Amino acid sequence: MRIAISGAGVAGAALAHWLHRTGHTPTVIEQAPRFRTGGYMIDFWGVGYQVAKRMGIEDQVRAAGYEIQRLHSVGSRGEVKADVDVKVFRRMLGHDFTSLPRGDLAAAIYATIEDKVETIFGDSIAALDEHDDGVRLAFERGAPRDFDLVIGADGLHSNVRRLAFGPERDYEHYLGCKVAACVVDGYRPRDELVYVMYATPGHQLSRCALRDDRTMFLFIFRAPSDGTAAAPKDQLRNEFRDVGWESREILATLDGVQDLYFDVVSQIRMERWSRGRTLLIGDAAACISLLGGEGTGLAITEAYVLAGELARAGADHRRAFDAYEARLRPFIKAKQSGAEKNIPFFATRTRLGLWFRIVAMRTMNFAPLARLFASTVIDDFGLPDYGI
Ligand SMILES: Cc1cc2nc3c(=O)[nH]c(=O)nc-3n(C[C@H](O)[C@H](O)[C@H](O)COP(=O)(O)OP(=O)(O)OC[C@H]3O[C@@H](n4cnc5c(N)ncnc54)[C@H](O)[C@@H]3O)c2cc1C
Repeated sequence: MRIAISGAGVAGAALAHWLHRTGHTPTVIEQAPRFRTGGYMIDFWGVGYQVAKRMGIEDQVRAAGYEIQRLHSVGSRGEVKADVDVKVFRRMLGHDFTSLPRGDLAAAIYATIEDKVETIFGDSIAALDEHDDGVRLAFERGAPRDFDLVIGADGLHSNVRRLAFGPERDYEHYLGCKVAACVVDGYRPRDELVYVMYATPGHQLSRCALRDDRTMFLFIFRAPSDGTAAAPKDQLRNEFRDVGWESREILATLDGVQDLYFDVVSQIRMERWSRGRTLLIGDAAACISLLGGEGTGLAITEAYVLAGELARAGADHRRAFDAYEARLRPFIKAKQSGAEKNIPFFATRTRLGLWFRIVAMRTMNFAPLARLFASTVIDDFGLPDYGI
């Protein structure tokens, strides 16, 4: 089948890989002018990691990744209040765990299909017109084209979802926080292979040293959904100026940042992920948010399951879409509720809550207690074997 995929992120690239491998002709449409690499750091493990192994990209993922050794929660003078040895989690997850920039994971996937699959950069779907035999797509820039299926893999603010299912407000579930991330050069201090976090009521600021003398910063803060419309950098300055620790030094680096990621922390919840010949995957369908720490792994898993179900169902896309949804929905739903429960950890509201957070982090060094916390990160999903 000729299958249009909107979005060349992790979900879109992984789906193009599996569709190409199973004999279809995918066309990827990406609105950015070129492939987006780098970006904020993600932890990558679980069922998605297993799919990455099946894609043959484990070596590339490991090479781009960082084997973070410790998590530090620090106080306002930089004193370490909780020191978590990440080894405990690695052992539990069978060492199939790494941390890497989001775009580098997408790039490792994309490299497997780059010269085999058509990708249109700098364009976006403007209209979908479904008929008995397929879907006619109109584009913002290019000429209209016909496809058999259309897959929306275009993220939290999905364009295909809006065109096929209606406005974002009908599906967005705001989790009460905003998030920002950026990468800067030459920041000091650096703590190699240590993820350093600082939290005050309603605010969390973290840094992670990267290769080539770069540092990634992550900001999370509580904010009402109808909050200020101020420019992102101004919101960060207003929120973090007086929180303490290195906040002023970190804010000072923002002036030179060109590529600031800034967004709401929201989930996408839908009754159905498909309508006719259109289906959504990844964040477009069921964003769990960064609070779940596994969105990329789920996106890759969804891509694999979709291609597998299409292979099983032959040309019957309805059967494949139903089977895909039946298989994944309970798993994804559990991940969404697990992520929602993490809000107090990422954006702790009170001083007492911050104290509990420190105690909880300290206990994570003890394997049996870590297992309790890790029950939400260990995936309860049997990866099907489609023979693809
Ligand atoms: C700060 C932060 C930290 C996170 N940490 C983790 C983590 O530790 N572990 C983890 O697994 N996940 C993490 N996540 C979640 C993870 O990044 C997402 O779940 C994952 O990237 C979703 O992949 P996707 O391909 O569905 O969407 P995206 O990565 O958003 O990709 C969507 C693509 O579609 C493109 N696009 C958008 N609109 C259009 C359009 N109109 N036409 C064409 N293309 C379009 C975009 O340019 C982009 O390339 C984190 C997220 C954030 C924000």
